[in-house]
Amino acid sequence: MRLVVVGAGMAGVQTAVSLRGQGYEGELVLLGAEPHLPYDRPPLSKDVLLGKAENSRFELDYGGLGVDLLLDRTATGLDPEARILRTGGGELEYDRLVLATGARAVALPGQPAAAHLLRTHDDAVALRTALRPGARLVVIGAGWIGAEAATAARKLGCEVTVVEAAPVPLAGALPAEVGELTRRWYAEAGVDLRTSCAVGGIVDAEPRLEGLGGSAVLLTDGTELDADAVVVGIGARPDTGWLDGSGIALDDRGAVAADAGLRTSAEGVFAVGDCASFPSARYRTRLTVQHWDNALHGAKVAAANALGGELVYDPVPYFWSEQFGRMVQYAGHHRPGDELLWRGDPARPEGGWGALWLRDGVPVALLAVDRPRDLAQGRRLIERGTLVDPSRAADPAVPLKAA
Ligand code: FAD
Repeated sequence: MRLVVVGAGMAGVQTAVSLRGQGYEGELVLLGAEPHLPYDRPPLSKDVLLGKAENSRFELDYGGLGVDLLLDRTATGLDPEARILRTGGGELEYDRLVLATGARAVALPGQPAAAHLLRTHDDAVALRTALRPGARLVVIGAGWIGAEAATAARKLGCEVTVVEAAPVPLAGALPAEVGELTRRWYAEAGVDLRTSCAVGGIVDAEPRLEGLGGSAVLLTDGTELDADAVVVGIGARPDTGWLDGSGIALDDRGAVAADAGLRTSAEGVFAVGDCASFPSARYRTRLTVQHWDNALHGAKVAAANALGGELVYDPVPYFWSEQFGRMVQYAGHHRPGDELLWRGDPARPEGGWGALWLRDGVPVALLAVDRPRDLAQGRRLIERGTLVDPSRAADPAVPLKAA
């Protein structure tokens, strides 16, 4: 039997590791479009950008694992009837296929080549060279990536302006009253955060620093922000364009629409990680989770089911972000209408604070700022779906536990 995994990021590599861990002894091919040995992405916006780490490669012996690792090999098409994967280096037959092609950073329309994205190792290395003391950096987007890029740039002594179209930071992920609380983090770090500010374009300008091309970010209100470097951090989309014509069903956001066992619409083809969505019985909706933990845990299910298993994937999603010296962690999935309960006082942030979302008294999501223990306890409550006593849950001196 030949099992092929397309995409050598976290989800693809973990699928390969899990397949071997679960006893698969047949042929195993892992192919990735990038020329680099597979690497982890979270350090790119942290230690790699700060120059504390040269790279973030996974420490794995692919040969020892019996993985035929094909780098610099892009999948270009798929014929699920014939079980053939087309790649830049020829066709590959498979018996089972796992799609793990992740996501691509979204660029602004007409974005000049000099503007940076932050998705790949090469992106991080290119941006790192621009983050010099005194350099003026404009970050477009106050989401997770924008906040982390701004954090690193301030640490490296850059002058940083963050431009966000929404009225508050993190607007795509958190309710406005929660995202608003992060505004002071920018101010305290010396970052000029401009919200409700739409970008009309980025144009080349007179270079000011040796080796860096100058740019100007044009805002729709007529303001021009001069920059020595620009980072565009406005989100990522599932990297599934190469599946056009394959018949593999995608959802309305372009992710591979997998079932609860991470099977796709084609026999013998599975999908996992940032490129896929799956139905969650727990949250009664289809989820696309573009976070590390999902790539790790989904891979175990994809591997098991590719080997004939019947596992169901219905996680409590989890992610973390390190911004402006704070550890921000979130578990679960909230939606409008859930009751928001503050834990601790965000206005007096010593010791951290949190927000808990309750539905009929049961926690469905939790945000913890500098409170990792809350995250661990809250995640368990969410997993078990147990009622909490709201007054005790609001008291940060009391451990988070069932009523
Ligand atoms: P990817 O990591 O995107 O890997 C997919 C791989 O497939 C890529 O290497 C790509 O080159 C390859 N590929 C794509 N198309 C093809 C093709 N046609 N043929 C062959 N190969 C292909 N999550 C957190 O929870 N916490 C964090 O702090 C955090 N920080 C992050 C920081 C950065 C800078 C980034 C970019 C992401 C961060 N994430 C974080 C998100 C997390 O890294 C992703 O959710 C995770 O990498 C998803 O893994 P994946 O394998 O599904 O996709």
